[in-house]
Amino acid sequence: MPDPKTPAPQATGHEVTPRLEIRHLRRFFEGRAVVDDVSLRVLPGQVTCLLGPSGCGKSTTLRMIAGVEMQDEGEIYVDGRLICDTLHRVPPERREIGLMFQDFALFPHLSVGDNVAFGLRGAKDSKRQRAQSLLDRVALGQYIDDYPHQLSGGEQQRVALARALAPRPKIMLMDEPFSGLDNRLRDGIRDETLSLLKEEDTAVLLVTHEPEEAMRMADEIALMRDGKIVQQGAPYNVYTRPADKAAVAFFSDVN
Ligand code: ADP
Ligand code: MG
Repeated sequence: MPDPKTPAPQATGHEVTPRLEIRHLRRFFEGRAVVDDVSLRVLPGQVTCLLGPSGCGKSTTLRMIAGVEMQDEGEIYVDGRLICDTLHRVPPERREIGLMFQDFALFPHLSVGDNVAFGLRGAKDSKRQRAQSLLDRVALGQYIDDYPHQLSGGEQQRVALARALAPRPKIMLMDEPFSGLDNRLRDGIRDETLSLLKEEDTAVLLVTHEPEEAMRMADEIALMRDGKIVQQGAPYNVYTRPADKAAVAFFSDVN
């Protein structure tokens, strides 16, 4: 398993194609730019964290990438392929993007295994095999034929992770996925999630308002405020050299 803190692959003659790249994304609500010229890249094998206070535009950014909301300006690329600009639009289910939100909503009427296999195509046997292997890796293999309500919140969260990874997405979008969990569980699940994502070689764009979570999980932090990215860099650099007073206040407030 690669070390989570391995630096971004450096360009040596040719550029690495980012798993995700957004350019100059904008979204207006009632005449106000809630996402205002946001550009960022997520490189293969990396976790990039979009960090900022509540209301700064993180979820709106993620929803545009997922394709459930349309940007007013800007382009989105997955693995170098244009999936959305103001003229072209690949539908959400064909973007090769995985999603995980705080409200992970497993299907209550489907077994744990069927939840994980839900988005997969192909023969029944091979879908079950993929589900079993992912469930084994989140240590829930023995619950494949149980139902979500028989599991704890933390276990359901791990099933949701397995479900999101099942179709081998190129990039995983996570919107505050751990904030519904109690403190006691959270660190363990964060670490487990990270190692599974790295094993599966899935790049991640993680949204959070908690500096501590970003520091723990990210290879790269993009600090967002009022719809704009105000600073971007390695966690240590962003934390020790905040761009401005507001960034200092943000880091010290929440800690
Ligand atoms: P975050 O995820 O960082 O908390 P959001 O992206 O959810 O922020 O919201 C950014 C801003 O956009 C907020 O001021 C929010 O009220 C506003 N907003 C989000 N969705 C809508 C909408 N559908 N209509 C109007 N305003 C919205
Ligand atoms: Mg949000």
